[in-house]
Amino acid sequence: RPTIGVLALQGDVREHAGALERAGARAVPVRRPEELADVDGLVLPGGESTTMSRLLVSFGLLEPLRDRLAAGMPAYGSCAGMILLARQVLDGRPDQQQLGALDIVVRRNAFGRQVDSFEADLEFTGAGGSGEPVHAVFIRAPWVEQAGAGVEVLARVPHTADAGDAADRIVAVRQGSVLATAFHPELTGDERVHRLFVGIAKDAQDAEDAQDAQDADG
Ligand code: GLN
Repeated sequence: RPTIGVLALQGDVREHAGALERAGARAVPVRRPEELADVDGLVLPGGESTTMSRLLVSFGLLEPLRDRLAAGMPAYGSCAGMILLARQVLDGRPDQQQLGALDIVVRRNAFGRQVDSFEADLEFTGAGGSGEPVHAVFIRAPWVEQAGAGVEVLARVPHTADAGDAADRIVAVRQGSVLATAFHPELTGDERVHRLFVGIAKDAQDAEDAQDAQDADG
């Protein structure tokens, strides 16, 4: 069972911890660099990305987090967490820090230009559960405006009557061990996205164990 940290500086930490536990992980809050060092993966929750980025700096977590991401730690960001993981943010604040773990350009509060929240049923690649759509709740959410060649698109907004400008926008991506959704699966009681992430963290853990065994042999 992998130990997954939830970045606990701000945002909906408890909801993610609950979803992770139900998806088979051990969930622990992360506020200090020592706590970050102990986890097999990290969830960056929804909240407010500018505030979270400022808190990452003042808690001394920004550089340790960048280092662990660069070393391949699995990570999952929802909403504000997706913004933090992105390479670039449009409509961000000038002091917003980017972790750059995903080769995507996101637009902050993209849906907010129409309405504050929006819901849709998404076809989500890799969510399992006999392919039933994932019900997505978007709250002042970003969308992905550009995704690099190495980024796998997992979901887009469908063409529904109320989708407007949002139709076809990319709202879930994966690049290697890093996953992000513009919406909040932790709020809907459907653990499939969290299961996908726990699976990614387990695979990374197994690969590391195999490597350690090989190093010990050689
Ligand atoms: N609008 C928020 C931001 O810019 C994100 C909202 C959310 O996480 N629900 O960070």
